Amino acid sequence: MTIEEDIEALLDRQQGMSLIPSWDKGFLLAGDYRFQAKPEGGELVSDQFAIKILVPATFPSQLPTFWEVGSRIPKKANWHINIKTDCSICLGGGLSLRLVARKHPSLTSYFENTLVPYLYAVCLRERHGGSFIFSELSHGEEGLIEEVRDLLVLPSDRAAVAVIRLLSMKKRVANKILCPCGCRERFGICQLQGKLYNFRSLETRKFYKGYLQHMRK
Ligand SMILES: [Zn+2]
Repeated sequence: MTIEEDIEALLDRQQGMSLIPSWDKGFLLAGDYRFQAKPEGGELVSDQFAIKILVPATFPSQLPTFWEVGSRIPKKANWHINIKTDCSICLGGGLSLRLVARKHPSLTSYFENTLVPYLYAVCLRERHGGSFIFSELSHGEEGLIEEVRDLLVLPSDRAAVAVIRLLSMKKRVANKILCPCGCRERFGICQLQGKLYNFRSLETRKFYKGYLQHMRK
């Protein structure tokens, strides 16, 4: 499926949205995004939001950016809005989103697995107040450690940093190092190594090296 066909399929389902002219690299979609969601054991939400979406022509390698443009969602960090940058919606950490995109490489299903859970959480918070029932991962770079820690179920931030360091090394070298999970074995024989497989294919060692430099702890 080409990106144009993918967009067409999405617009077929989202009649309130349309493609608008854009000078950006990619496709700009805007309008009312409708959804209905009912997680197992959760309450039903059926609603719509005024949303603008920039879809890179290279999706799913590169990810879309979403903005709520109806002034309904408070432009605040605790509503998962990237207020320090472009006020787009923060849907989670870069690595988790890339894993979602790999599993759901069409726009329709990618949106259903990223934007919809977010909008659902917004609706619940509007109804009941309280905290945001949505992955509390990541507000930009500060969340990188948390993201890795959560994705790999690691015991500490320190272990998360150590894992990223392993990903930035050659496999052969990494395998000889003491595993950061606490198993007291070499990394090469711990089951954590298998879990990292996905991450190794997701990005290059160079990417993780850069990622490491952003980590503060
Ligand atoms: Zn281990």
